[in-house]
Amino acid sequence: MRPVHALAVGLALLLAAPFPAAAAGAGSERPRGSGPPLPVPAPAMPGPDLQAPVAMLHPHLPLPARMVFEPGMGDAAVERTLEIRKGQSLIAVLTGAGIHAGDAHGAARELASVMDLRRLKVGEKVILTLAGGRAPGTAGALSGLRMKKNAHTEVGIGRLLDGTFQSFERQRRLHREAVPIRGEIESSLYADGVEEGAPAKIMLDVFRLFSYSLDLQRDIHRGDRFELLFDRYREADGAHADYGEVEYAALHTGGRKLQFYRFESEPGTFEYFDAEGKGARRALLATPVDSARITSSYGRRRHPILGYSRMHRGVDFGAPTGTPIRAAGDGTVVSRGWKGAFGRYIRIRHRGGYQTAYAHLSRYAKASKRGRRVKQGQIIGYVGSSGLSTGPHLHYEVFINGRQVNPMKLKLPSGKSLKGEALERFRLHRDEIDRKLRGSAVGRQADAGTSAVN
Ligand SMILES: [Zn+2]
Repeated sequence: MRPVHALAVGLALLLAAPFPAAAAGAGSERPRGSGPPLPVPAPAMPGPDLQAPVAMLHPHLPLPARMVFEPGMGDAAVERTLEIRKGQSLIAVLTGAGIHAGDAHGAARELASVMDLRRLKVGEKVILTLAGGRAPGTAGALSGLRMKKNAHTEVGIGRLLDGTFQSFERQRRLHREAVPIRGEIESSLYADGVEEGAPAKIMLDVFRLFSYSLDLQRDIHRGDRFELLFDRYREADGAHADYGEVEYAALHTGGRKLQFYRFESEPGTFEYFDAEGKGARRALLATPVDSARITSSYGRRRHPILGYSRMHRGVDFGAPTGTPIRAAGDGTVVSRGWKGAFGRYIRIRHRGGYQTAYAHLSRYAKASKRGRRVKQGQIIGYVGSSGLSTGPHLHYEVFINGRQVNPMKLKLPSGKSLKGEALERFRLHRDEIDRKLRGSAVGRQADAGTSAVN
């Protein structure tokens, strides 16, 4: 009798205790679709002499001593895949498949401890393990169930010998690959990245990464080159499962090369660093709104509505109504509300004597109430045209010790720098990424003429 590791449990979760009808009607045929619920034999009480390896299903759960594991499905059990249809609860899916109502409720109650069952996706597959033989057309007793929680996690339940269910949650096995993308700016970093085959989610991350240090409208020009490496996950059959993180992003612009490597600086903490190990993160984002363009800079100008010349003490970012506005830095919301010509307005206090202000919002995000702490990059509201405004835009201001300054001219201290052991590890990681990129560059030359991206 040897312990079975959680990940080695594999697909089969089965109560080895025999069911009364197990021997009688066991056939190889799988029960078909739905049908009226049929009586299901109650699970037999376990015999005291049960000899089976004990499976630990979840590393964070205490070892369910009475849970048993049978490698392979055995003759007395079948797997059956059901699909969630529109408006169906898990209980409805189970009872519709002939599972005893008591079992369906017990299973759902236990599964709810690892997954929000109110958010089941239509078309999602639920895989049942049914134990015990049964007459054709009847369901066996439910001994296990598993389903995808998200691309990376599987959840399920297994039945214990006393008839109750025990939930588990585990990593799904996915194949991870690094996808390189290269391109040249023709319209915008975002659009050209997508054009080269990067998913929108990745390009938004890249945009945010560079928005620490660049104003992406002013500092990027046609002909600038970019290079990305991001993770992609595939199912065992090769089907796309999910995109992962941006592992590397570089931009060659105005004679300089900006590069960022994703690196685990401390266990569980991933941050971006340049090639020398200096952190990408700044105290304030240069661009606090997604994919915007500057429509009015800081300085004296003729006011578009009032008509006379006056100082514009902020930067205007033109963007469609509803575009998310992000907190430029970690801080505390010190005011939120209507402020005359500014319309809906938010002001945040940051460390080091900085404050930032955001005006003309169409609406606020829930988490940006006065007194709340916000994280850098967190959505605090949405672009609008409230107050005295000619069209949807974000009016953005930065204060240092109460004085307004030009947000585009800020010389902000850069993030932390890696030192010692962390820097050593970073260099190894950086060199490995560089090798991967060089390898992919060679690969691309070799099949020049094809348009394959990966
Ligand atoms: Zn303005």
